Amino acid sequence: MLASEDQLTRNSYYAATAPAGRQYDALTGDTACDVCIVGGGLAGLSAAIDLRRAGLDVVVLEGMQVGWGASGRNGGQALNGLACDMSVIRGQLGDAAARTIWDMTVEAVQLIHERRSTFGIDCHWQAGYLAAAIGPKRARELQAATVDLEKTYGYTGMEFYEGAAVQDWIASPRYAAVAHDPRGGHLHPLLYTHGLARAAAGLGARIYERTRVLRLERGAAPVLHTEQGAVRCRHVLLAGNVYLEGLAPQLSGRIMPVGTFIAASAPLGKARADALIPSRSAVCDTQFVLDYYRLSADDRMLFGGRVSYSTLVPRDLAVSMGERMVAVFPELAGVPVEYSWGGYVDITVNRAPDFGRIDPNIYYLQGFSGHGLALTGLAGRLAAEAIRGSAERFDLFTRLRHRNFPGGRALRTPALVLAMAWFRLRDILG
Ligand SMILES: Cc1cc2nc3c(=O)[nH]c(=O)nc-3n(C[C@H](O)[C@H](O)[C@H](O)COP(=O)(O)OP(=O)(O)OC[C@H]3O[C@@H](n4cnc5c(N)ncnc54)[C@H](O)[C@@H]3O)c2cc1C
Repeated sequence: MLASEDQLTRNSYYAATAPAGRQYDALTGDTACDVCIVGGGLAGLSAAIDLRRAGLDVVVLEGMQVGWGASGRNGGQALNGLACDMSVIRGQLGDAAARTIWDMTVEAVQLIHERRSTFGIDCHWQAGYLAAAIGPKRARELQAATVDLEKTYGYTGMEFYEGAAVQDWIASPRYAAVAHDPRGGHLHPLLYTHGLARAAAGLGARIYERTRVLRLERGAAPVLHTEQGAVRCRHVLLAGNVYLEGLAPQLSGRIMPVGTFIAASAPLGKARADALIPSRSAVCDTQFVLDYYRLSADDRMLFGGRVSYSTLVPRDLAVSMGERMVAVFPELAGVPVEYSWGGYVDITVNRAPDFGRIDPNIYYLQGFSGHGLALTGLAGRLAAEAIRGSAERFDLFTRLRHRNFPGGRALRTPALVLAMAWFRLRDILG
């Protein structure tokens, strides 16, 4: 748990609107299993489902509660692609591998639908995603990216609009162009995460909450030590996002915890909400430090953005997020912000995901870089495949090269603040 986490979880719209999820006991005593998963977020639970379906004995250890981390607090936007540009993947792995990875990101969104339907998870799915460009340069880039997705990746169905037509999609003066993707969409992430946990438990996975793993003993039969017990297993999957702390020190230098924040307005009423985003799509702008927002099922504006590269929460979060919201939708001036919260994303230097093994039987999934709602599901599936002996798809990702943030833990923050100031400047200059 990071220093400011208490402040970031206190006033979450998701926690306030999800019925209390099923509670899982803490682990007391010693036990054994085939696969022990650290982290009850979307990545860990996804792996648990597939491993149980394959008949393996699975234990999930969650230090807080299921969905307590980014999985239960995020913007709810389920998007294809990765946080990094596909050119990063192409540059490292070549065209064919990049195409395969792109297709897997499309599969990741599909997997959400498969699981919603198989396990009957009601999480307020709403189809539609809009990428929005500020200024003519970004508009040209967005158009080129849309064409490239169709030509290079065979991704059809996206539509590009510019000029006056943009207002039909987003009632804001801010954007020069939008690209609509009917296959993306959004959902209530805490309801979805609770649903996955119920599904995993229903399949026979043993989930323990309030069970932090304090020490990992590596070897042919690894042992995970918790405050009140221990789990001996054949395989370990680390899916702890930025919270693993000392558990796998060789991993922590490759990711940086970056804070991002969301505010929820008071309910606007259906007509007023529909007027702002008539398709009710999720929206992300294409700036480096981006705004992301969507309408909730109860007609609130859920507006996300801002970032913090220290682990300090901005002062007056509700006020500052409200101001950002009004900058995009002046018509929302005076509408109260009723909830504001946030969390940490695990960004890598190149913003490509970082999956791999620290030992042949210890796997990890990290580096979703703020683009993990859908991708975590696929990542869990790939880890489960690898553990069962089919590692081709997992190993495509492990071929991606990652660097440590310069300066180690102490200097990561100042170095990143400088880098981000540069990107922010590029956003402003357009
Ligand atoms: C505010 C915010 C907005 C976001 N918006 C979007 C979005 O709109 N779209 C999108 O695609 N992505 C978004 N993301 C990113 C996305 O939410 C994450 O990539 C994803 O949820 C990561 O899932 P996870 O399972 O890897 O980690 P988490 O959900 O963080 O789960 C990790 C869990 O591991 C547990 N844990 C860690 N260490 C230990 C230990 N030692 N012992 C026991 N348990 C441990 C933690 O308690 C935690 O519950 C957002 C993230 C944030 C914070």
